[in-house]
Amino acid sequence: MGEEIRKVEAAGADVIHFDVMDGHFVPNLSIGIPVLESLRKITRLPLDAHLMIERPERYLEAFVKAGADSISVHAEVCADLPAIAAQMRKLGVRAAVAVNPETPLDRTLAAAGDFDMILVMSVHPGFGGQGFIPETLDKVRLLRADLDRRGLALDVEIDGGIKLDNIDRAVAAGANVFVSGSGIFGHPDYAATIAAMRARIAAA
Ligand code: ZN
Repeated sequence: MGEEIRKVEAAGADVIHFDVMDGHFVPNLSIGIPVLESLRKITRLPLDAHLMIERPERYLEAFVKAGADSISVHAEVCADLPAIAAQMRKLGVRAAVAVNPETPLDRTLAAAGDFDMILVMSVHPGFGGQGFIPETLDKVRLLRADLDRRGLALDVEIDGGIKLDNIDRAVAAGANVFVSGSGIFGHPDYAATIAAMRARIAAA
């Protein structure tokens, strides 16, 4: 993994997005704090930790110590979003809240002023290589319109199935942070793929 991280950094990636799973909230194995710590030693890029875990408040400090620059917690498992946002900000990390494709935006919007970023899942979390769910673009659109109306300049991150052939639609919907896994790693030339994505973002 270290070699791949160095390659995408050299290829022009802005951020390393790191998925953490606990086997409960999503049925999958975890890669966790020690891995993030080792990534911190090999890249200067910001590390964006996406915690697909229950009770994420227990682990925030450990992820910050391991080197996370931003942390996303899932709205579905956080009863008190303002409280966890405050906990993250106190730890000096950028605070983000994530929503699954089927999760309504109401609680997230109500707490938006407490966060730096909102992550919209565009696939069901926990399994790699799924197809992008186009209906999630409507959610991004609603979200961005609501934030704009309230004068909130949050980042809107879209995560799941983002590739060269759909990134322009995500931009048009209002996303400005794009997570791409197989959309980059599935191509032999990472630099060319990232450059082509940037061109599509600029043209959208
Ligand atoms: Zn993710």
